[in-house]
Amino acid sequence: MTVLLDVRGLRVVFSGFVALDGLDLTVEEGELRFLIGPNGAGKTTLIDVVTGLTRPVAGSVRFGGTELVGRREHRIVRLGVGRTFQTATVFEELTVLENLDLAASFRLSLPSLLRKRRGVSDEVASALETAELTALADRPAGVLSHGQRQWLEIGMLLVQRPRLLLLDEPVAGMSKDERERTGELLQRIAATHTVVVVEHDMEFLRRYARKVTVMHQGRVLREGSVAEVQDDPEVREVYLGR
Ligand code: ADP
Repeated sequence: MTVLLDVRGLRVVFSGFVALDGLDLTVEEGELRFLIGPNGAGKTTLIDVVTGLTRPVAGSVRFGGTELVGRREHRIVRLGVGRTFQTATVFEELTVLENLDLAASFRLSLPSLLRKRRGVSDEVASALETAELTALADRPAGVLSHGQRQWLEIGMLLVQRPRLLLLDEPVAGMSKDERERTGELLQRIAATHTVVVVEHDMEFLRRYARKVTVMHQGRVLREGSVAEVQDDPEVREVYLGR
């Protein structure tokens, strides 16, 4: 198996506060990995470092053998790392299709953009299908439900052809039905991509997670199946509070 993401000794300090404290993490190509941990464990900070938003004071992030620390955000996107934020960022006045087209164009150089004929490109059509948005293609994104916006944002990542997707709490605030559809969406995406998902919902994890990494105080506390980490006394103490 090939390691796609190899994080070593990551240390992040925010004005004296240690948010990541020598974090080590490896994710293999093709994995659907869930990241859990109490608030403040450093999960979002880790994603911020991988995507170039936050600079660590020490450590390395190798992505397919390339060092990401020190690279600018847009370079990291071009290398194939895509992320979502806790609040979906879509262009409300544009339709679902226009949002996807726009996201796809971020990847293209100006000459290829000019060459691009009008019409739905293969990757946009495929993202519409994967994210189950085909029926909503011509709706303005502003009228979408919370769940549909999250799926659109994930679709906007997919059209940029990432190798690694980092999703920050994609099912937060979703209905039961939307959670289920998101779980299925994640599995579809994971068939062809490597996906790291920050998620707290234990019911969701029991259903969709094979491997879970538990973070605590800026480090990895445990790694294993949901059953394994759930039964771990230390994890119970810090995370589940029982
Ligand atoms: P998690 O995502 O696991 O809840 P975060 O990565 O968001 O944790 O935060 C880790 C810790 O770092 C928290 O205590 C948070 O308050 C702190 N932190 C995060 N970002 C900043 C920042 N920009 N400035 C100062 N402190 C921050």
